[in-house]
Amino acid sequence: MLTEDPLVSGSKAPHEISLLVRHAYVLTMDDEERVIEDGAIAVDGSRIVAVGTDTDVSAEVRASKVIDARGAPVHPGLVESHLHASYHIYRGALADDIPEGAIFSEFMDQFMNGVDEDEEYHGSLLAIIEMVRNGTTCFLEAGSAHAPDAVARAARLVGMRAVLGDPFICDQPDAFAMGNVSSDAPAQKSRLSRTPRNIQEATERLGHQIERNADPDALITGHVAVRGLGTASEELLLIAKRLADDSGTVLNMHHAYSPADTEAARRAYQADPLVHLAKLGVLGPNVTLGHANQLTEAERDVVIESGANIAWGPSAAAMWGLPGSFTGRHAEIWRGGGNIALGSDSGNWSNDFDVFRQAKAAILGTRQASGDRLSITAEDVLTMATRGGARAAGLSDRIGSIEVGKRADLVIHTLDRPELVPYTDMVRNLIYASGSKSVHSVVIDGRVVLEEGRFGHFDEPALLRGIADKSRAMMARLGISSRPNGRRVRGRSAI
Ligand SMILES: [Zn+2]
Repeated sequence: MLTEDPLVSGSKAPHEISLLVRHAYVLTMDDEERVIEDGAIAVDGSRIVAVGTDTDVSAEVRASKVIDARGAPVHPGLVESHLHASYHIYRGALADDIPEGAIFSEFMDQFMNGVDEDEEYHGSLLAIIEMVRNGTTCFLEAGSAHAPDAVARAARLVGMRAVLGDPFICDQPDAFAMGNVSSDAPAQKSRLSRTPRNIQEATERLGHQIERNADPDALITGHVAVRGLGTASEELLLIAKRLADDSGTVLNMHHAYSPADTEAARRAYQADPLVHLAKLGVLGPNVTLGHANQLTEAERDVVIESGANIAWGPSAAAMWGLPGSFTGRHAEIWRGGGNIALGSDSGNWSNDFDVFRQAKAAILGTRQASGDRLSITAEDVLTMATRGGARAAGLSDRIGSIEVGKRADLVIHTLDRPELVPYTDMVRNLIYASGSKSVHSVVIDGRVVLEEGRFGHFDEPALLRGIADKSRAMMARLGISSRPNGRRVRGRSAI
């Protein structure tokens, strides 16, 4: 079924288009969640111009390029809704036995104060190559690259959609609680030298990335990112929210990652932090909160009522042994009608950038914690990763579903993978068994970026080797290093 013009105009002549995806098991993720078993997607330029059965669509068009999905699932590109792209340059460097309170003094301070633009470019390039390979076509960067232009350059090289933020917007850097203070410990002085120190410095730095939105067709756009976790005054949060409102973008910030930062915010506000922010007018449908692991019932309710988005990183806090990723209220918010998107955070928190793996972690963790198999299902996480992510990134009008008029961000799988066989239920097999293993080709903004597992427009192995060299050189330059985990003696502890 063709959904609408221009292809059902009555003209007999086939329409010339740039790309036709044929014989696809199309998971449209549209409002009706239509599935077209032998479907086709017609793309012209950057946009989808027809979606329907293969018979109907292919009869109407003549495409300069055709991809035959041979019955495999095709779905909208996944959206990575919370990440720090440039941190991939030291992925895996933090040993499992480094105390959370020491990561800044032993590693992160030196990195954050010393990383240069070229290193941020290479870290981002690694992250972006990895994301596209895993079926992610868009990411919301959490305002953590000192040189957003470097991230933009990397995204442009690969051809990935990116939504960037200005770097480290905060006006109370010393209030940063994560890892540095417990609820009982005294606050420590921030040693980060490149963050704003007061509201004047923060507001001068704010708003530059949204200038990218002047071009309505831009692949790389901007949003308003604030660091969060207690580092922004109420005044700065209100300025940032107004800027997001006025510019039609999202306000994105970390929130309630750990018990310590949540407790610090509770003490500062003398109230549940999100209840307080809702009263202030900071929450709304264009606000995206990264993590939100430690919410009360009242905060769950204000998230749902306000329409704020949660960018859930199921693996991030769990990797550090912190509670809340699975025992928090993400599933309750989702089932209550709130919006949840998925994110991988960074190269030493989830370590890999694969939204499919976050999706499976979300399912397993939540089911275990709740004892309810229906707490989150395969269909739920596919919605979170596509439509949910598009909304969290402020791009619902452009991406998140396969519909006429939307940008052509498509993931085409292959059935030549054991994990998608037999063809019992395509969605369950995709989410529970295959994940990104069956990603075969990826289209972003109408361009075939990854084709049959290969990037045709750059030498991927050479780039990866260069990135590894760059990482080694950076760590030597900054005097930071990676070491193996401390030796563990098995069989001696009382369990
Ligand atoms: Zn983060």
